[in-house]
Amino acid sequence: MPAFPQSFTSTVSHWQETNRGPTSLWSHGRDAKLPSGVVDYVIVGAGATGASLAYQLSSPGAGADGKSIVLLDAKDVASCASGRNGGHVAPRAWAIFPLLMAPLEKGGGGLNAEQVLDIIFFEQDNLKLVDSIIKREGLAVDFWHGYRCEVLNTPESAADNLRNFQLLQKLVANSPKYRHRKVDWTVITDPDEAKRLSRVNDAVACNRVPSGSWHPHRGVTALLRLALASTAANVQFFSWAPVAGITTANGLVSVDCGARGVITARQVVIATNAYTRHLLPETQDLLIPRLAQACRVVPPASYAGPRGLSTTYTVQDGPYLIQTPNSGLIFGPYPLIDEPERVFNVEDDSYTTPGVHAWLESWCRDHFINWGKESAGEGLVEHWSGVICQSIDLRPFVGAVPGRPGVFISAGYSGHGMAQLVNITRGLVNQLRTGQWDDAIPRSFALTESRMERARAKAVHPLDYEKRGVTLRYFNGTVSDEVANL
Ligand SMILES: Cc1cc2nc3c(=O)[nH]c(=O)nc-3n(C[C@H](O)[C@H](O)[C@H](O)COP(=O)(O)OP(=O)(O)OC[C@H]3O[C@@H](n4cnc5c(N)ncnc54)[C@H](O)[C@@H]3O)c2cc1C
Repeated sequence: MPAFPQSFTSTVSHWQETNRGPTSLWSHGRDAKLPSGVVDYVIVGAGATGASLAYQLSSPGAGADGKSIVLLDAKDVASCASGRNGGHVAPRAWAIFPLLMAPLEKGGGGLNAEQVLDIIFFEQDNLKLVDSIIKREGLAVDFWHGYRCEVLNTPESAADNLRNFQLLQKLVANSPKYRHRKVDWTVITDPDEAKRLSRVNDAVACNRVPSGSWHPHRGVTALLRLALASTAANVQFFSWAPVAGITTANGLVSVDCGARGVITARQVVIATNAYTRHLLPETQDLLIPRLAQACRVVPPASYAGPRGLSTTYTVQDGPYLIQTPNSGLIFGPYPLIDEPERVFNVEDDSYTTPGVHAWLESWCRDHFINWGKESAGEGLVEHWSGVICQSIDLRPFVGAVPGRPGVFISAGYSGHGMAQLVNITRGLVNQLRTGQWDDAIPRSFALTESRMERARAKAVHPLDYEKRGVTLRYFNGTVSDEVANL
């Protein structure tokens, strides 16, 4: 059954509420006629992936000069995950070693230490790229670039955290590829200092690592507006144009838009994230939709103005959160609070769940030191949901789709796309132009037949996590020197 048109009405996020004035792109091209004849590129999906790709592909000299680019979305720009997320552009640090290096059979990524280093530095580069694009283009998208406070709240996890940090340092020192790279990473091991810096009452240690945030709906819209204004390529965007299917024949790709018609393209990029299985059934059970929720919290005066939070956060077994310039805090929960059956394989973002609501509602009062009493209008003021795309082997699927000439993909960020996708789409532009993989993208992201076979044979489906004893956590133990091959 196709995902679109939807049979339900989606919740509305803070970001979507606050970007719907006359210069936003709601309903853009909704009633326009789709192009006839052969177009050079079709991008399916106008979330952050589609918009970033359209922007970078249509930049002068990027490879699409004089060419036609058509962007299609089943709904409006950033109407799915990109317009409903936590706004956190958060490159991960050493905490991901245990998860990504655990075997596929145990719910991990099955990678080696060098492959994880590639991902860590790639995400650092993504944040710098986002920063440079926003500054170069002068985009008013509430972009903030600073640090994230990663809070550990048990002595055991604090010890694991320190070990993972030392592992990272050793690996970097031994790596010809990365030993010249300097990143401003710090671990605070003194519990009193960790509490003082984080203001979290059960903090035992914390990390200070680079991070960013933005208004994602304005960000995606701004990139799409730049693409539409390109003087190098002819870019068109059609909203409310759900694609029912794609077929390849004679070196061309047919994109079936149902009642709106069929577009023929030389190359097609699938940027449909959680909904990809409807267009590429071979990704069914590899790219799994997962219901995610986020909320806005208005802090009391104890956490406002100069007493406001000065970093973003990721808290062990807690939420991640960002501070917006004017609207308080945006929270996204990390842990699985609802039963897996209510979370995985869910594409319906029309509701939020009481369990997550209750958890978020009291989190600040329960954890932030001297948070204090909330007056009417303070505390949790709105709550929404969205659908992320859980990759079964915990990393995105990028590049040429095997067995489908002319078809490419970038999807499956497992709830972490803002930290990866601008840099991925930069590399994808190069691949579209040259036919070659861009070596700055981690090789482990490439969608290959063998990766799909391995994942199908070995990886744990999220609905089996409980059965197989897997806990998908950001802070997740440590790895030994032997496993790290040191
Ligand atoms: C509640 C929540 C919190 C999150 N928090 C964060 C965070 O803080 N930091 C972070 O890095 N990531 C976060 N994420 C994940 C992040 O939002 C995604 O990784 C990212 O937005 C993916 O972008 P995308 O463009 O690939 O997908 P989407 O934004 O989902 O866009 C896909 C688009 O494809 C369109 N589409 C689908 N099927 C079709 C079709 N058949 N025809 C035409 N169009 C179609 C959809 O309408 C949609 O617009 C969060 C996600 C959610 C839901």
